[in-house]
Amino acid sequence: MSLDDVLTRIDTDLSAATDRLMELLRIPSISTDPAYKAACDTAADWLVTDLQSIGIAAEKRATPGHPMVVGHVGEDGDGPHVLFYGHYDVQPVDPLNLWARDPFDPAIEDTENGPVIRGRGSSDDKGQLMTFVEACRAWKAVHGTLPCRITFFFEGEEESGSPSLVPFLEENAAELKADLALVCDTSMVSRGVPSIAAQLRGMLKDEFTIIGPRIDLHSGHYGGPGLNPLREISRIVDSFYDQETGRVAVEGFYEGVHEVPAEQLRQWEGCGFDEAEYLNSVGYTQPHGEQGYSTLEQQWARPTLEVNGLWGGYNGAGSKTVIPSEAHCKITCRLVGDMDPDTLRGKIRKHVEDRLSPDAKVVWDNDLEGSRASVMNITRPEFEAARGALSDEWDREAVFTGMGGSIPVVGYFKSILGLDSMLVGYANDDDAIHSPNEKYDVKSFHKGIRSWARILDALNK
Ligand SMILES: [Zn+2]
Repeated sequence: MSLDDVLTRIDTDLSAATDRLMELLRIPSISTDPAYKAACDTAADWLVTDLQSIGIAAEKRATPGHPMVVGHVGEDGDGPHVLFYGHYDVQPVDPLNLWARDPFDPAIEDTENGPVIRGRGSSDDKGQLMTFVEACRAWKAVHGTLPCRITFFFEGEEESGSPSLVPFLEENAAELKADLALVCDTSMVSRGVPSIAAQLRGMLKDEFTIIGPRIDLHSGHYGGPGLNPLREISRIVDSFYDQETGRVAVEGFYEGVHEVPAEQLRQWEGCGFDEAEYLNSVGYTQPHGEQGYSTLEQQWARPTLEVNGLWGGYNGAGSKTVIPSEAHCKITCRLVGDMDPDTLRGKIRKHVEDRLSPDAKVVWDNDLEGSRASVMNITRPEFEAARGALSDEWDREAVFTGMGGSIPVVGYFKSILGLDSMLVGYANDDDAIHSPNEKYDVKSFHKGIRSWARILDALNK
């Protein structure tokens, strides 16, 4: 089956494809706001109808929250079986006054980087989701069939914490099984550089309170002999770090962390990441992380222990001569490689407890949230096949990148469905996702569709 005919079809159908995306963008499917519940339902219906129109057996599936959309095509045939994931819900639009147009009345606008589709969800994730659907439409139109067996899986609660996702995956694990998940909800590392996100950092949260005296004390009566929990907590937080090297000084913190292979570092060095822009845009003149690692390695491949909140004592107007009874600290860690959140939590807690002064107590929060890093198995042949397909389309070497954040669905695909994920997305950093005036480059949409057409072809080689 010829790929060229499919690519030509995509080019001639681009304006119709853009119109279809506009229709989907007009549906205000804000998942977090109950006022838009019906709109979420409408968006799911729209997708079902659209998938059906290209011969995919699709249905809307109820959950306690917003519905899932599940579709199947070619599954009794042969060829590799992929599960494609995207989400049709969007973020709220406020502050509305910062939008140059109605967020749900999308339009094409010319910008210095070429035409863009402006509107809520254009990039995150309706535009990205539709790149895959349009690629399938073109394959079907030209050849009547697809090069892969495909399960479509669209979620409507991604922007509101995915409360129905885990139970749905558990209940429908047999139906959703495939060889590999494809996820289109990520960015390119820099404009025009095709990217496959191959590692996402995991996360660990913890929170503690240090308690000193039974009650807040007068610093005239107890100042001197009194133990001050704010001083305790400051000293302990300081001890989390080696100030010389920028490393975390908690014993065993780096267990399970692996160095980045040389070939991957080579790709990262040439990926067009603008370090100065990344740092300067937020007012930094230099990176402040671990010495000996590049800014990208610090962001993608190294773990962190971050203090997110530190408080206690008197914070009102004027002054108060108090030795507070309590001091509080919220921390989060970003995890990489094989770091285990539960083991790490134990090490951090021990670090704190070992350093407490006599008469100080620590109380831990018991919200034990944590997720491991997702490290994609890029030795699977599908990854190199997709990298080749992307390099052909964008006329430049595609890169296996990392991501500093996490995408929970990838972890659930692995733990519940046993599925590796491949994350390919065409968004740009200036797409303003979650912000006013969100946009998606027409080039991202067009070449994104062509990229998926090529990837589906390459997966079947
Ligand atoms: Zn998204």
